[in-house]
Amino acid sequence: MNRIALVTGASRGIGRACALELAKAGNKVALAARQVDKLEEVAAEIRALGGEAFVVALDLSSFDSIKEGFSRVTKEFGRIDILVNNAGVTKDNLALRLKPDDWNMVLQTNLSGAFFCIQQVISPMMRERWGRIVNISSVVGQAGNPGQANYVASKAGLLGLTKSLAQELASRNITVNAVAPGFIETDMTNVLKDEQKTRITQNIPMGRIGAPEEVAAAVRFLASEEASYITGNVIDVNGGMYMR
Ligand code: NAP
Repeated sequence: MNRIALVTGASRGIGRACALELAKAGNKVALAARQVDKLEEVAAEIRALGGEAFVVALDLSSFDSIKEGFSRVTKEFGRIDILVNNAGVTKDNLALRLKPDDWNMVLQTNLSGAFFCIQQVISPMMRERWGRIVNISSVVGQAGNPGQANYVASKAGLLGLTKSLAQELASRNITVNAVAPGFIETDMTNVLKDEQKTRITQNIPMGRIGAPEEVAAAVRFLASEEASYITGNVIDVNGGMYMR
């Protein structure tokens, strides 16, 4: 059966890889982020593969924008079966120097935004008695990281949200899982200096940075029919950087 997926932050990095993987697996894909031109490029890639894509502008820091974006996708595709809450931002600083705006912006985008996206799909998924929700957390949400209190709190919050909603929605055949990437080569990590990258890589048993496609493979699996009995779980894609 053709499923319909919505991926937030689908314009680059991990989100783009998730959108492409889900399209290759036969799903129609709605691509959401703030900058539409970048999303259009990913949509063109999906269409070139013979897939179906729909672009929607959406700002996760605004509840109204989320509501409007999801309603446009539902109008276009009829429903949403798979939600990948991938978009995320950082605004790093030591806790002592973290401004209220920097705390609020990161929590609002990464955690509240993801929750409000989930709220948009709960009722329709319940009606369909089928749904897959995948939240992209992070290794630092499990292990902590100095200088990233806001980001880490948002990513740890996503893990709690995942487990609570998994319990709330399980009886309706809706699974809610998380993927916790380690250090992945994207624009988010490209801002790090070479010496920082070397230091991080030294602590990764696999001795290398991960690729967005390696995260997308776990997302594609959790979104598939085959993952029907897995819920409230976290798949770590981190090269062994953190083992629970
Ligand atoms: P990225 O390259 O920086 O891409 C972020 C995406 O999120 C973009 O598509 C961006 O598009 C979108 N976005 C940002 N703010 C948004 C907003 N307010 N509303 C809607 N969309 C927004 O990030 P990435 O490295 O691929 O990371 C993807 C996810 O994986 C994030 O949640 C990140 O925390 C997590 N993660 C990444 C790593 C890593 O090493 N890269 C590790 C662990 C976890 P616009 O700017 O156009 O809105």
